[in-house]
Amino acid sequence: MRINEIFYSLQGEGRFTGHPAVFIRLSGCNLTCPFCDTSHQEGREMTAEEILEEIKGYPSRHVVITGGEPGLQLTGEFVDRLHEEGYFVQVETNGTTEIPLNVDWITCSPKTHDVIPARVDEIKLLFMNDGHDESRARHYEAIPATCRSLQPCDHSIAEPAPASCRRRNAATLTACIEFIKAHPSWTLSLQTHKLLDIR
Ligand code: SF4
Repeated sequence: MRINEIFYSLQGEGRFTGHPAVFIRLSGCNLTCPFCDTSHQEGREMTAEEILEEIKGYPSRHVVITGGEPGLQLTGEFVDRLHEEGYFVQVETNGTTEIPLNVDWITCSPKTHDVIPARVDEIKLLFMNDGHDESRARHYEAIPATCRSLQPCDHSIAEPAPASCRRRNAATLTACIEFIKAHPSWTLSLQTHKLLDIR
């Protein structure tokens, strides 16, 4: 597999926010979202055993396989190897690829209309504040999932955020909170790693 980075931190978003986890970022994505905040293109080839050797140095047995789009490379065999070593395996996908169903938790942040994985445990939808959030939320409510959250889009890719972006982000957060209060099947997901300035 082509690995962009492996690091240890707290899960910043969604259902497992605050959980210590080892992040395995696979390189490459099949989309080019304008708001993408991840440098996932670079990568080095690593075997499954080399990856396991590296992640064993961290105390958590929660692994988050992310990207880019991890479904482009992830195999059920690698998930089996992680299970053999006692790991809980979470995958974060953009919803455009199949994900091996032996994964323990599939978090889908859909970026396109169709959601390909045969099972989704968590829908984490970006709230754009562009006038189309209600129809997007309705569309993805049709997909069975245990958890559904809305995450205000961070409109500021460059740091420090210019004042106009900060205002836009603040307006998006306020609109997102009001939307969730009116649509209580959704919960709020914040990018807490950004708020805390951790990885
Ligand atoms: S799907 Fe995710 S990783 Fe891929 S370009 Fe979009 S935001 Fe970036």
